[in-house]
Amino acid sequence: MFTQEIYKYKIGIAALAFVLTFVFSSYNCIENESKAGISASKNETAVRPDSVKIPDGLRKLLKAYPDFLERADENHLYWKDGTVMIYDDGKDKTFEEKLDNADLEDMMTQEYVRGADWDYPPPENFEPGRIRNEAFFLKMYGGTQSEVKGNLVTISWTPSGASLQVSSVNDADKQLKAVADELAAMPEKFQKYFKKTAGTFNYRKIAGTNRTSAHSYGIAIDINTQYSDYWQWNGTMNYKNQIPIEIVEVFEKYGFIWGGKWYHYDTMHFEYRPELIVN
Ligand SMILES: [Zn+2]
Repeated sequence: MFTQEIYKYKIGIAALAFVLTFVFSSYNCIENESKAGISASKNETAVRPDSVKIPDGLRKLLKAYPDFLERADENHLYWKDGTVMIYDDGKDKTFEEKLDNADLEDMMTQEYVRGADWDYPPPENFEPGRIRNEAFFLKMYGGTQSEVKGNLVTISWTPSGASLQVSSVNDADKQLKAVADELAAMPEKFQKYFKKTAGTFNYRKIAGTNRTSAHSYGIAIDINTQYSDYWQWNGTMNYKNQIPIEIVEVFEKYGFIWGGKWYHYDTMHFEYRPELIVN
């Protein structure tokens, strides 16, 4: 009997505790809601930070280039030096017009897919990274040949020991050096694709266009041309590639995109574009 009494007593306490917990938590909810209500009505005219929708492309740019970029809003990119760039210029463009006159939004629209599981061969005019906003890159890597050259450093291409000139801006040099070290450690069967390279820095326009090549900024490298396919050399848009994906994955790991994933394929070409690699 006595133990039964204690048992009932315990049940009673537990039930009471449960009810009290429920009452208190409801009270807290009501209180929080009313607090939120007050702050919302106070800030009715001001833009609330959590309501600013930063486009994914801008968010990725901020993440990729912390040395230069400070913040963004719905349609602007704010640089640390005070420069403001518009994200989407609102203009309708053909594909060629996008290549010639890309805004940041055009540059970030096509999504680069890392690794072996990508849409192969690339659909017509799908080539993430080939559309570049020139002003953006000129500002970071140098607006003139001598400015770009002032940022170049020499790294040793580990697979062969050759010297290559790469921009030190955004640590592109350190990233390429990390690629080189990892490639050098790959099995022998891979070495022929990259031991010899066709170089990095080359101040020039892209053949047949008025557009600045990524090689002009010191952030691109062409690996062995002997095993490479380039649409301009092949004279056809029929996609062809001989570069093993294992090599591509090493470059991607360090922020480089591959020209072999472009409709206008260029399988020897890699360039440092962390904004297309970050999540
Ligand atoms: Zn190239």
